[in-house]
Amino acid sequence: MRYYVLDRGDQLSVDLSEQFHKIASQRGFQLDAESPEIVISIGGDGTMLQAFHTFVDHIPDIAFVGVHTGHLGFYADWKADELPQLIELMSASTTGSLKPRIVQYPLLELEIQRKSGKTTYIALNEFTLKGVDGTVVAQVDINDQTFEMFRGDGICISTPSGSTAYNKSLGGAMVHPTIEALQIAEIASINNRVFRTMGSPLLLPKHHHCDIYSRKDQRLLLTIDHVNIQVDDLISVRCLVAKEKVSFARYRPFPFWNRVREAFLG
Ligand code: NAP
Repeated sequence: MRYYVLDRGDQLSVDLSEQFHKIASQRGFQLDAESPEIVISIGGDGTMLQAFHTFVDHIPDIAFVGVHTGHLGFYADWKADELPQLIELMSASTTGSLKPRIVQYPLLELEIQRKSGKTTYIALNEFTLKGVDGTVVAQVDINDQTFEMFRGDGICISTPSGSTAYNKSLGGAMVHPTIEALQIAEIASINNRVFRTMGSPLLLPKHHHCDIYSRKDQRLLLTIDHVNIQVDDLISVRCLVAKEKVSFARYRPFPFWNRVREAFLG
């Protein structure tokens, strides 16, 4: 099995990473930083975001596994002291005596059009557009029809698995990752007699898209998961459910609603 490990960098995560390499080499796993089949993230959900973006160009060929060294995560389900058990199960999968379930989650595709050119990105959690100097003015189109003129702090477009992250703080719905959709949530919109936005989060199916057009000269902060890009020449951003999905290898069940309950209700 070709594998790669990415850790958060704290002492516990680094120690676990070393422990993983040691046992993995005894089991005949091959460390492969170029084309791994399995990528193990050790840390938290933020570490999984980093692992995802490290291998974003190889997503169809990789299955991710998350080990958490803090609280239970949405992407990181294995506890630190369960590492030997995880490697045991991974080893059994190489001999064919156990097959992990591969679950696939939808992703968000972004086409960012600037005066300087177009760039495409993929997000695991979400994309946000915020003003650097003040109120954002942006036109939101859905399926090429003008929907609303937005004024406020910003707009968040999330994936179903990202719906429990920033989107949740904005009052968005938590969406089961089997639902292929993207969610639009407002960040502090201005609503009065002059300016009006829908005010509710919107869920778009996979065959719909939305476009956000910058409608004034403004410096904007575009964030794709944990990656920030500041721009002053944005024309538009097209958001759609990506054709590819991210895969997670499940060596035991990890139901989404259990994770929601444990993360938010304890
Ligand atoms: P961070 O600010 O250090 O961490 C943000 C928190 O979000 C961490 O507790 C992280 O969990 C958690 N998280 C990440 N993905 C999640 C998911 N899918 N469901 C539930 N919780 C999740 O930043 P970071 O670690 O680089 O993560 C970037 C993410 O932070 C962004 O994608 C965005 O969703 C989130 N964020 C949230 C807010 C907000 O809620 N107001 C504001 C900005 C950004 P771990 O501790 O397990 O890593």
